[in-house]
Amino acid sequence: MFRVGLGHDRHRLAAGRTLIIGGVAVPHEKGAVAHSDGDVLLHAITDALLGAVGLGDIGEWFPDTDPAFAGADSSVLISKVVAELAGQGWNVVNLDCTVFAQRPKLSPYKRQMAARIAQLLGVSEDAVSVKAKTGEKVGSVGLEEAIDAHAVVLLTRAD
Ligand SMILES: [Zn+2]
Repeated sequence: MFRVGLGHDRHRLAAGRTLIIGGVAVPHEKGAVAHSDGDVLLHAITDALLGAVGLGDIGEWFPDTDPAFAGADSSVLISKVVAELAGQGWNVVNLDCTVFAQRPKLSPYKRQMAARIAQLLGVSEDAVSVKAKTGEKVGSVGLEEAIDAHAVVLLTRAD
């Protein structure tokens, strides 16, 4: 049995915050505004995982009104979801994702992000694809007001 899941996330960017994408700290003068650590890519992937099996969304699992998740490490959050899926017998086949940021240039970090995500999902690195795009200098991404991420995941379970 196979299931596909789709995830999307967006965070506003502001000065003086740490920018963490795919579990990797990326040096930049702005970071994501968020209740948690604001990892836009891990959030999109978490939503894709939850969506694939119809388990709701990241906001239901980790409400941004809950003080327990203030400044939360998103790698801990996604690990809870991965553990839940594993408990139900689901394995990740592959993950494809794209991060949208006008700046900083993310291509130097893509491999490191893929390695970290593969580790979090318990798959080999060749099962994880991380792509990076700009916002073509228009819209919220292009004007450096926000950072976006899209993710698609395929899961399988033996029946
Ligand atoms: Zn988010």
